Amino acid sequence: MKIAAVHTHLLEYRLPVPFESASMRFDRRAHVLVEIVCDDGTIGWGECLGPARPNAAVVAAYKPWLIGANPLETEKIWARLYNALRDQGQRGLAVTALSGIDIALWDIKGKYFGAPVSTLLGGRFREEVRAYATGSFKRDGVDRVADNAADAARYHAEGFHASKMKIGFGVNEDLAVIRAVREAVGPDMRLMVDANHGYDPMEAIELGRRAADFDIDWFEEPVVPEQLGAYREVRANQPIPVAGGETWHSRWGMREPIETRAIDIIQPDLAGVGGFTEAKRVADMAALHGIRVVPHVWGTAVHIAAALQFMAAMVPSPMRVNPIEPILEFDRTENPFRQAVVKTPIEHVRGVVKIPDGPGLGIDINRDALAEFQMKDD
Ligand code: CA
Repeated sequence: MKIAAVHTHLLEYRLPVPFESASMRFDRRAHVLVEIVCDDGTIGWGECLGPARPNAAVVAAYKPWLIGANPLETEKIWARLYNALRDQGQRGLAVTALSGIDIALWDIKGKYFGAPVSTLLGGRFREEVRAYATGSFKRDGVDRVADNAADAARYHAEGFHASKMKIGFGVNEDLAVIRAVREAVGPDMRLMVDANHGYDPMEAIELGRRAADFDIDWFEEPVVPEQLGAYREVRANQPIPVAGGETWHSRWGMREPIETRAIDIIQPDLAGVGGFTEAKRVADMAALHGIRVVPHVWGTAVHIAAALQFMAAMVPSPMRVNPIEPILEFDRTENPFRQAVVKTPIEHVRGVVKIPDGPGLGIDINRDALAEFQMKDD
């Protein structure tokens, strides 16, 4: 079995109502899928986190090392591809592109052996996970306080046990949003805040101290990801557990935050950290240091399926009668191709998502949707 072709599929949807996180404006949804075709006809699918066109360009750059390789040799291919761009790569697009390739190779491996990726990773500890709703961005033309409170109330009514809101727009305005959301959902729903590295350390510490009264489970990306000293300062000087990791790539990028306890919760993204091959190493490293793992997800059903396979195989840490279960990040913002790219959408029922148990990622791609949402030239 050999790799015969590598394709990328650029997908796009222009949003009628743009929205913002603290660090980024979204006027469209754009994601890139990776398709790897083998000489026996087996096809594997992956996805890369981050900007679609640059990721596709780097995937294309890896092709010479992929064509003719045995797709089952995932570790060997990972090492070769990483080494090919190591001197100018090490993190960023070199690793996010490699992530999409690695996910596709594991999908092929699962189809070859007739087993879900989670079984090949070591076994399924669970068949379903609770999801938490990610939404509550700053949308154009509406009052952010009322809009985010309405979002959270809807997630609560849909059965989600937890939801995450976007902050980082200014401490006082953010606190008004947090207060309104807590009042809208009542005392039982779990709430998280995500600053998308929009604060400096002083602002983050002030926000954390004042928001703690609203019972917040974690404070995500309080400061820019390069400033691990600032992360440690935020963690030491306010009471909310600190989360981060969606922009730290590979085991080397994760090592310092984990070893120096810059975070309480690490958030490796399957489509960013280096695929299944690398996420497994990161989860093992986190377990060594007693850091909780909650994978980051921001993409299509291919990305969600990869996260679910990984989460099925996550070893409880600590092992105990009622273990701490991983929770799935479930994007609730507008994206019509998120689930359209697969024939059977990965949906939640009262906030719970079943983990597919078919071979590989356990999904079938809907090529009509790939055509419908194909990115156009600007
Ligand atoms: Ca985030």
